[in-house]
Amino acid sequence: MAPASAAPRILMRRLREIMARPGEPQARLDAIVTQIALIMVAEVCSLYLRRTDGSLELFATEGLNAEAVHNTHLARGEGLVGLIAEKAELVNIHEAQDHPAFSYRPETGEEVYHSFLGMPILRGGRTLGVITVQNKARKVYAVEEVEALETTAMLVAELITSGELDDGVGAIADRTQSRRFSGTCVSDGIALGHAVLHEPRVMISDFLSEEPEAEKQRLAIALEELRTSIDGMLAKAEMQRAGEHREVLEAYSMFAHDRGWVNRLHQAIDSGLTAEAAVERVQNDMRARMLPKQDRFWAERMNDLESLGNRLMRLLLGSEQTSAQSSLPEDTILFARTMGAAELLDYDPAKLRGLVIEDSGATSHVAIVARALGIVAIGEVKGAVNRVDPGDEVILDAVSGEVLLRPTQDVIDAYTDKVRFQAAKQKRFAALRTREAVSADGQRIDLKINAGLLVDLPHMAQSGADGIGLYRTELQFMISAKFPRMEEQRDVYKTVMDAAAARPVVFRTLDVGGDKILPYMRMVGEQNPALGWRAMRMTLDRPGLFRTQIRALLRAAEGQVLRVMLPMVTEVSEVDKAQKLIDKEYEFLIKYGHTPPTRIEVGVMVEVPALLWQLDQLLDRVDFISIGSNDLMQFIFAADRTNAQVEARYDTLDNVFLTVVDSIIKAARRHDVPVTLCGEMAGKPLEAMALLALGMRSISMSPASIGPVKTMILSLDIEKANGFITDLMGREHGSLRPALETYAKENGVIIDAFATTSID
Ligand code: PEP
Ligand code: MG
Repeated sequence: MAPASAAPRILMRRLREIMARPGEPQARLDAIVTQIALIMVAEVCSLYLRRTDGSLELFATEGLNAEAVHNTHLARGEGLVGLIAEKAELVNIHEAQDHPAFSYRPETGEEVYHSFLGMPILRGGRTLGVITVQNKARKVYAVEEVEALETTAMLVAELITSGELDDGVGAIADRTQSRRFSGTCVSDGIALGHAVLHEPRVMISDFLSEEPEAEKQRLAIALEELRTSIDGMLAKAEMQRAGEHREVLEAYSMFAHDRGWVNRLHQAIDSGLTAEAAVERVQNDMRARMLPKQDRFWAERMNDLESLGNRLMRLLLGSEQTSAQSSLPEDTILFARTMGAAELLDYDPAKLRGLVIEDSGATSHVAIVARALGIVAIGEVKGAVNRVDPGDEVILDAVSGEVLLRPTQDVIDAYTDKVRFQAAKQKRFAALRTREAVSADGQRIDLKINAGLLVDLPHMAQSGADGIGLYRTELQFMISAKFPRMEEQRDVYKTVMDAAAARPVVFRTLDVGGDKILPYMRMVGEQNPALGWRAMRMTLDRPGLFRTQIRALLRAAEGQVLRVMLPMVTEVSEVDKAQKLIDKEYEFLIKYGHTPPTRIEVGVMVEVPALLWQLDQLLDRVDFISIGSNDLMQFIFAADRTNAQVEARYDTLDNVFLTVVDSIIKAARRHDVPVTLCGEMAGKPLEAMALLALGMRSISMSPASIGPVKTMILSLDIEKANGFITDLMGREHGSLRPALETYAKENGVIIDAFATTSID
């Protein structure tokens, strides 16, 4: 072998020349192995690439029988080469035939060779193939030789993933293989598109450097930048205090400060690599070490390290940290390991079709934003980011919770049909936009939307809703870095009112606590946060917070009607206290010469059961009430709404719950106070049918539900349904769902608009 320090450089130069030459991919592979054998003074150099079925195929060799090329296939895990691929670990032995994994293939003629050095070709957590050298002499290869082959393997990996070898070589590695991942539906729908990695992978072009000190200096600067940016993200407020997104960042921070990691990077640079190639090498080594540990903890740490290494490489190469500013396909499906809500808002929403995220579930903030943007999203999809390549075709089925990577044509066709069908339905719903929600027996129903971000606003006009029945003001607080100032709040509320034009908007005051956590607010850990210091309880204890918000609302509503709704009220005295604070702010407004709203309506969310025994006193005090069925349901049935195991155990159409709703409607009627319902059940046609049958005339729901619910209303005779449900509640107990479904079917009430073909 040439002098140790010079060999890799000569080899790299030669390999580059080979790659620059025009010619068939096979000819280039042949030239690569010949060069390696020559420079490493090896009698054999062979290159095996992984096929779609996981087997390894001999793609090129110098020294073994030429006829074996493309004819020798090793099954997954077979032989020394299979072992290297499976374990992603190198093997360096002086007598290959003594190794228990050795598998003799007569067609190769390799029995005359003894020493063996095999190196996995790794990229992004995947083994793409194996490269080996063999000699007749019995020897263990020297560190320099091992490093030279390791560097070569890195280069070949780059060539494979850059697509330069694809053409004509066949299905290299598993890039063309279809794969299916499962996760949880975060934002419903079906989307077809092309993959974009939120954090782009990097392509290294310079592997070798003769100036280790300069490389260490580059590394030091990049590492400092990396640490600062992670600390910045940790301090940033778009995360939950104890959310998974934060945990991932904390793991990054730990690695970024780890001396061992930095030492290994320095050693790799000392062996002649550039700083970025050193990062890649250390990642490969770490992966090899962690791979045999099959448990989830190590897999996650490996993912952390992988993301961190990629960040560092991007810093070293000066490339963008996220794809937000790059040119995106029109049908982008974004893949992220972890992502904050604000990061998603950096993307052009017109190009986003879908989002796949590895660490977030349905309640994360990024999920709230995805829903608000109307992007199909699936969370908790473990391992997807390492398996996807930019530009891959992807189908997201956020009805069944599946991510289909590189689907076959028949699967694409089937889904294209589904999407077409969905789009046709949406068109029909859009056509209903200008149609009033009047039931078959002539009763006008007020349909409003729930909103909470400015991106929600266009939905009001698009869906033809009568206004915003619930504006969740806490979302602005949840996605910003610190408490929004009065002026910032006022500007948002003003924008919302302007967008609503003459239509009413109900602003709910800050409903935080429980599962809605503000990262910049110190909270004590609670055993039962849903029953804890949240919403009204918190804002009454922090009157400054409440008054700032009321001031912002009053200022936004100058000369207009202001509707304010109080969440989680438990006792009527809380309404009185809130009213006093509102009055004070009103006086303040007048004192400083601002134009007041023309009228201030104060309403209350009925979501704590204790209020059910104070309805008369409550209704004497307020201008309207709105049933928060999500919380009321969890408290009536003592079933945590965020716990999947119990959340669906009890039915909103249970006679008990409908009886509660019925008694609230009757009390509101007695007091001539408007009543509405703004929990999730309002957006489900069958549930909405039951609510209207009980006498409700106003409901508020997510914008996507307006079309299906309006379709139901147009087909419903409310008077008749009222007779049915009254009788049903008098004689049955438990869930009334089956009986209500049968009623709908027998009476032509369209409760499944997606399944019907005619809506007129
Ligand atoms: C509810 O509890 O029903 C409700 C609408 O409020 P949130 O879901 O924001 O708690
Ligand atoms: Mg609630």
